[in-house]
Amino acid sequence: HADTAMYLAKSRGRANYQFFTPAMASSAYDALVLESQMSQALARGEFVLHFQPQVRARDGVLVGAEALIRWNHPERGLLMPDTFIPLAEQQRLMLPIGQWVLREAMRRVRRWHEEGLCVPVAVNLSTVQFQTSGFTALIEQMLAEEGVAGELLELELTERMLMDDLPEVKRKLSELKALGIRISVDDFGTGYSSLAHLKELPIDKMKIDRSFVLGLPTDNDSAAIARAIVQMARGLGLVVIAEGVETDAQRTFLARLDCDELQGMLVGEPLAAPDFAHWVTAQA
Ligand code: C2E
Ligand code: MG
Ligand code: MG
Ligand code: MG
Repeated sequence: HADTAMYLAKSRGRANYQFFTPAMASSAYDALVLESQMSQALARGEFVLHFQPQVRARDGVLVGAEALIRWNHPERGLLMPDTFIPLAEQQRLMLPIGQWVLREAMRRVRRWHEEGLCVPVAVNLSTVQFQTSGFTALIEQMLAEEGVAGELLELELTERMLMDDLPEVKRKLSELKALGIRISVDDFGTGYSSLAHLKELPIDKMKIDRSFVLGLPTDNDSAAIARAIVQMARGLGLVVIAEGVETDAQRTFLARLDCDELQGMLVGEPLAAPDFAHWVTAQA
């Protein structure tokens, strides 16, 4: 597929001619340089959000967008989150960066809304953010300041974050739900969720990890896992979305399983905000 080929070319291109690769971050010196630059990157406005469309499997209608952070590094070009998020987490920079992501996503939602584009945005949370006391109050304040309805915000948490301290997690999620915010479980199937715990939590959506989508439709294990996740989500009354959908065969298979929503290169790659708005217009 053309989109897939383009994506592969891009990712190879990244590895080939980009100055910086994730492997280089393993050099302690390099990590140190990156860390010191990262602490200034926020103030210098070097972070940027890209938005990847999420569509209804049945008819391809846009249902939302996932906000994905990139670092527009002055010398190294556009850095992907896997190269700097782990460093940010070690350096206690994930909290300020995470707050920036939330505010930037809200601003974008409001601007799109003003332009007549009503797109709920999903934001990835990191553990430190979710653990911060007063997190809900902070989100509530930001929503008020940016003039955004909670219904237009979705928060993506991983299984690990949800399994932490059940009563505490349940309380926090309920507070967020009271603001109208939706909760989704990212990379579902790769963590170690207790299903008994999960069913106690006010979760709206499960995201099938792309590692299970990759082998569809031919790999029997992937097919069995994808089917099981969709059925479980159905049974629990949750929306289910597949990540990393790259081929028509994957889309067809997932649609037949009755998977609600799709996200991936087949549908659309993550785009800078103006490009995303153009993409939406072109679809309509
Ligand atoms: P994620 O939340 O699971 O996001 C999906 C990742 O899959 C994104 O990678 C996206 O670009 C990529 N992807 C989407 N469609 C396809 C596809 O069809 N094929 C393939 N191979 N990949 C696809 P990205 O943008 O590099 O982000 C990687 C991870 O970094 C995210 O995984 C998320 O865990 C984390 N991340 C991104 N932005 C943020 C953020 O603002 N805050 C936090 N805490 N984490 C973030
Ligand atoms: Mg995510
Ligand atoms: Mg994911
Ligand atoms: Mg992932």
